[in-house]
Amino acid sequence: MNALAATTRNFRQASRILGLDAKIEKSLLIPFREIKVECTVPKDDGTLVSYIGFRVQHDNARGPMKGGIRYHPEVDPDEVNALAQLMTWKTAVADIPYGGAKGGIGCTPKDLSLSELERLTRVFTQKIHDLIGVNMDVPAPDMGTNAQTMAWILDEYSKFHGYSPAVVTGKPIDLGGSLGREAATGRGVVYATEALLAEHGLSINGLTFAIQGFGNVGSWASRLIHELGGKVVAVSDITGAVKNSNGIDIPALILHKERTGKLADFSGADAMDSNDLLTHDCDVLIPCALGGVLNRENAGDVRAKFIIEAANHPTDPEADEILFKKGVTILPDIYANSGGVTVSYFEWVQNIQGFMWDEEKVNKELKRYMTKSFQNIKNMCQTHDCNLRMGAFTLGVNRVARATLLRGWEA
Ligand code: GLU
Repeated sequence: MNALAATTRNFRQASRILGLDAKIEKSLLIPFREIKVECTVPKDDGTLVSYIGFRVQHDNARGPMKGGIRYHPEVDPDEVNALAQLMTWKTAVADIPYGGAKGGIGCTPKDLSLSELERLTRVFTQKIHDLIGVNMDVPAPDMGTNAQTMAWILDEYSKFHGYSPAVVTGKPIDLGGSLGREAATGRGVVYATEALLAEHGLSINGLTFAIQGFGNVGSWASRLIHELGGKVVAVSDITGAVKNSNGIDIPALILHKERTGKLADFSGADAMDSNDLLTHDCDVLIPCALGGVLNRENAGDVRAKFIIEAANHPTDPEADEILFKKGVTILPDIYANSGGVTVSYFEWVQNIQGFMWDEEKVNKELKRYMTKSFQNIKNMCQTHDCNLRMGAFTLGVNRVARATLLRGWEA
């Protein structure tokens, strides 16, 4: 099932549980605005290449729209649409005053030079600058983009509108970025995991973890789990996978990847087939990469007792059902990976206040938000007798529906 069909299905189920009327259900499903732009840029050798860029602004009932910009070859309109919708529910679950949006450019960033990436980012910004803004839509990094990408967007946007650091988050610290933003998604995943495990009388210390993806989110989550005494027994990324049943020395693996660019040939672990990562023997499985990786083909073979969705929509609805029947507890994406956008909110607040927080304050506030959201989700699970995914969806959808109704329908 594609990402949009899967997200829409979860939304409709939440809407049924909440008893929303058809008019509001339809209005919450249709995006506020979908932008598609053509970006032609000269390559370093002078030849011209055209890329398609998207920004889907899903909903703004609760505040400016918020969400990342992804550079990836698989970016397509349906996926961006689904991810924008997920951002609307995610910001509502996190209880931060934003709506949801997502953007993307269909490209392979590793095949582009730094100057080609800069030109592409600037052309994309020129095409959408009128439709983003501090109080309208605030982009951030996602797969294939980073703080440097945000710096280019900020610079290009500022040429049209004057210096506006709060137009993007996830910026370099020197340009008004927040301390702790780089680690925030991974750190939030760890706080969310702690909240879930505590419910089961467990803690990270002593449990085993398998982690798919070793980019920003996966490497930070691994590092923090390792620091807390968790045993990371398997890790994979696009370059390969490694395992060690005694626990991988994560700081050493991070160094190895920084030096060689890959996980393979790490002396502290054995090589394994990346396809086996999701079904590896562990207590907690954390997918931190692409969507749809858990599906009907592999869900039956999952051995973890807990799945923490650090990626966006890693679990297909068919896999969801299979895993639920197996008794696997899934902590849903719209809560588990909300640490990134939550610290984006802190960054935006700091920019508007013109006052920088220290990292301790950022992390403390992040923990407070993550812990509070978990309790709110659990309350919804109790009220509606549902699993954590529906607890999170009903929490988010209900908040957006309430804001929509309060703002009213009169044209
Ligand atoms: N791209 C991240 C996400 O999917 C962060 C978005 C943001 O900070 O606006 O949640």
